[in-house]
Amino acid sequence: MVTRRQFLHQTGAAGIAVLAGSTVAAGLQTRQAGTAKYDLLIRGGRVIDPSRRLDAVRDVAISGGRIAAVESNLAAADAASTLDAAGKLVVPGLIDVHAHVRTKEMPAICLSHGVTSLLDGGSAGIDGIDDVVGYAKAAPNRVRVLLNIARTGILTPEGELNDISRVDVEGARKAIERHRDVIIGVKARLSRSVAGKNDLEALRRAQAIVAPTKLPVMVHMGDTVSPLPAILALLKPGDIVTHLYAPPPHGIFDESGRVLPEVIAARKRGIWFDVGNGRIAHITWAEAERGLKQGFLPDTISTDLNETSLTDQVFDLPNVLSKFLMLGVPLDQVIAMATVNAARAVAPFKGLGTLGVGATADVTVLELRQGNFEFVDNENTKRTGKQKLFTTAKIMGGKRIGA
Ligand SMILES: [Zn+2]
Repeated sequence: MVTRRQFLHQTGAAGIAVLAGSTVAAGLQTRQAGTAKYDLLIRGGRVIDPSRRLDAVRDVAISGGRIAAVESNLAAADAASTLDAAGKLVVPGLIDVHAHVRTKEMPAICLSHGVTSLLDGGSAGIDGIDDVVGYAKAAPNRVRVLLNIARTGILTPEGELNDISRVDVEGARKAIERHRDVIIGVKARLSRSVAGKNDLEALRRAQAIVAPTKLPVMVHMGDTVSPLPAILALLKPGDIVTHLYAPPPHGIFDESGRVLPEVIAARKRGIWFDVGNGRIAHITWAEAERGLKQGFLPDTISTDLNETSLTDQVFDLPNVLSKFLMLGVPLDQVIAMATVNAARAVAPFKGLGTLGVGATADVTVLELRQGNFEFVDNENTKRTGKQKLFTTAKIMGGKRIGA
């Protein structure tokens, strides 16, 4: 079977062959005129691509917006431009499956952190969705959006689902239809302060909204009125649970601190568990360590970034990834959680999160610095890590950003 991606790659290669054939006589001149074999060569970095279990020093060549080669010692003379990545990590463009795009500036801020694709975690409902979709379409990176099932979108402190009449199933379906290219699912925040005793009814309505399209639902768990197993029972494969390390009540653990069997069963039937760092009651070191110790790792690590958390607790995705390095998750697994896993969890990101030949050339170059770095959880408990990731370059669709 030829996938769409392979097809595009093959036609791209054919295009180059035709061009080369027509300029044979010009030979050397053609090269001088700028028809180099590669548009960009990222040289000498430690390439970590968990999609292919690759962790080795390699050169990454990009041509026509796609990955053309990942090999040792590719010739710099074959490239129109080069980027020296010696001593750096070269990874697939980072994917943040839970951030908040409430301003037109936010996508570019995320891109400056190395995030080439992101998902808005239900900032807006029917009332404000056109604005968010506008920001997504104008973004320099790839932004997709979850529609908040409450027409108001996020309402703090009153909580958008405390009044269940704010969920308009028909209206939400129409909004999705209007923006089917950008809206890829719905979001329901189910905590006590947001939904009170309406949590299960809200989730039933969320599933009703997406029933015709089969789009995923992302639920925000932690401190719900209903126990987590009752919530999980209403989820379908492909749905996402964010804030998996939320402190009790009604986190992923039973009273003795064991991961609930219903949680393990939910993962087995295809439900994704995401971090969603955020600022309030979404993650504590204790919960994260308890989960990691039992082998219940996140599928995806996301920020839940907003204007406030840009300067408090979260800061950026590489900072949140570094917290998991501190907690002992191996580097390649941490990178997987923000690349290939994220691409699997969000259908429109399928085919991203990899440096496989032919893939869209989204690449993030990171520096893993050694030292003493302070991290905090949502209870502002400080921990010192020995390593921290910093973004040093980002390439979006083959183009270097902010060089
Ligand atoms: Zn959020």
